Amino acid sequence: MIKLKSEEEIGVLRENALMVSKTLAEVGRHIEPGITTKELDVIAEKYIRSLGAVPGFLGYEGFPGTLCMSVNDVVVHGFPSGYKLKEGDIVSVDCGTIYRGFYGDSAYTFPVGKVAPRVQQLLDATKQALELGIRQAVAGNRTGDIGEAVQTYCENLGFSVVREMVGHGLGREMHESPEVPNYGRRGHGVKLREGMVICIEPMINAGRKEVYLDENGWAVHTADGAPSAHFEKTVVVRHGEPEVLTTYEFIEKENC
Ligand code: MG
Ligand code: MG
Repeated sequence: MIKLKSEEEIGVLRENALMVSKTLAEVGRHIEPGITTKELDVIAEKYIRSLGAVPGFLGYEGFPGTLCMSVNDVVVHGFPSGYKLKEGDIVSVDCGTIYRGFYGDSAYTFPVGKVAPRVQQLLDATKQALELGIRQAVAGNRTGDIGEAVQTYCENLGFSVVREMVGHGLGREMHESPEVPNYGRRGHGVKLREGMVICIEPMINAGRKEVYLDENGWAVHTADGAPSAHFEKTVVVRHGEPEVLTTYEFIEKENC
């Protein structure tokens, strides 16, 4: 069942979205060669609690961190660990909050120092694909319109789209209906209605699309070991133009 949100509920989701957006920037400010993903996780947890919210992922189905920290060939759901980031790595930071009974959810893939040109292209393409997907999140369209926009753009650049994990509705639960795949066909899938709140989150591989599950039961790796990027925003489906609740402006202001 798809739960349409009232304006009041969207207001709370908007507050959560602002918190995850600011937390990602706080983490980004500390990303440099030598810092561990666990140290970044501690920074995020303290920051989220300082805002009066609770980490949304910590303890979710047993997940051990505040952040999913997915380095290089890890697509999503990496554990924060003692791994020290090094120049040339990329790290997907996925952040959730719970505040006033609703979730926040957003992700950004950061380069650590300077990365290889093709890896930078992967980051740029995944972020741009997210924006193209968001444009399709208008009432009357279908989830396939979002998926098709993401898939076509990325595949034309020689990248591939992960199939096993998809975007989702967001509300009082972190994963609500509908599923929002990053692949698909125009005019297919679930019809989008005003008041649906969805997370669009392309997971794009530099190499082949195949992935496998780590023996820890969580981290998803690319099968060929090539890097993978992941960007995620929370969006309200509206008539005419989508309303994007999360923002990268705090992150990208930092880096100017
Ligand atoms: Mg997320
Ligand atoms: Mg999500």
